[in-house]
Amino acid sequence: MIPSRELFESSPDWLAHTLANATADLPKVSATLPDGTHIIRKAVGVLQLTPPPDRANPNQEALIVSAGIHGNETAPIEILNALLSELVNGEWPLACPLLLIMGNPPAMVAGERFLDVNLNRLFNGTHGKPEYDGLPEADRARFLEEVCRQFAMEHPQALSHYDLHTAIRPSQREKFALYPFVEGRQVPEAQCDFLLEAEVGTLLLQHKAGTTFSSFTSFVLNAESFTVELGKVHPFGMNDLTRFEGVKNALRRRFCGEPTPAKQPPFDHLTVFEVVYEILNTAKNFQFHIPDDVANFTEYAPDTVIWEDDDTCYRVGSIPEAIVFPNRDVPVGQRVGLLIRPR
Ligand SMILES: [Zn+2]
Repeated sequence: MIPSRELFESSPDWLAHTLANATADLPKVSATLPDGTHIIRKAVGVLQLTPPPDRANPNQEALIVSAGIHGNETAPIEILNALLSELVNGEWPLACPLLLIMGNPPAMVAGERFLDVNLNRLFNGTHGKPEYDGLPEADRARFLEEVCRQFAMEHPQALSHYDLHTAIRPSQREKFALYPFVEGRQVPEAQCDFLLEAEVGTLLLQHKAGTTFSSFTSFVLNAESFTVELGKVHPFGMNDLTRFEGVKNALRRRFCGEPTPAKQPPFDHLTVFEVVYEILNTAKNFQFHIPDDVANFTEYAPDTVIWEDDDTCYRVGSIPEAIVFPNRDVPVGQRVGLLIRPR
């Protein structure tokens, strides 16, 4: 049988199969491509790929690439699907062990960011909290942690994880990556070069441990992990995929085990930001003075009042600060936004 029939049954490709079986509990199946590359479908939307044993892995690495952790962020899902189709069609050889993940298939079908709860806040064990008991997104987070843990154990090579997203909110910097916080960890230069190759020119260093997918793989599996924001959200089939060629080509190059190309302007240096302040909803007549529709990376001049309550009035310090992820509609104690500045 041809490999795509074994993996995707009557569906034309991986994405169609994932959408058609979003809530199905399908058994594990595997297929071998004509060149000996072995593919296991571990669950709906989860493929583990292993090159033939006699093939070199010049970059000595294993990769996890995920998309659709937020179901309506379609462009990265379409990119992974297209790369997988190329591989299955024999267009290039896979050089490294690879775990490809479509994160939240039921939300992908619904065209929603999530159904019950934001999947990207459930990692690092948060899925086990009683309030999430029985929710499909909690089960998916637990399963994805387990699949990644097994993959990391089977492949002790240098492990990288790229969790690909797009955003609803506009951004003054279209593509940017977030580096999860791990005490004392520095971003390796090779990772900065890869982000530039993918046309991602901005990196934001996070300031504390989180519950995102990339925080889990970084903190627990010791991977070099990034959440990568690639531009605006559009429905399936409505993306201008030419805006994503950089990341697609960079991923394909890594999958093939080829060396990093020389840096090309304008993507020859990374602008690095760090968090200077986390705004939390204090509930004491909390007022947030940033408009709802402001773009990520909008800068505020020194002395601008950002938020105030009965006790506190926060003003920008002597150096301008920029906002990312502003969201006033959060429960008491949760994050309303981050203030950042270039490092
Ligand atoms: Zn997202």
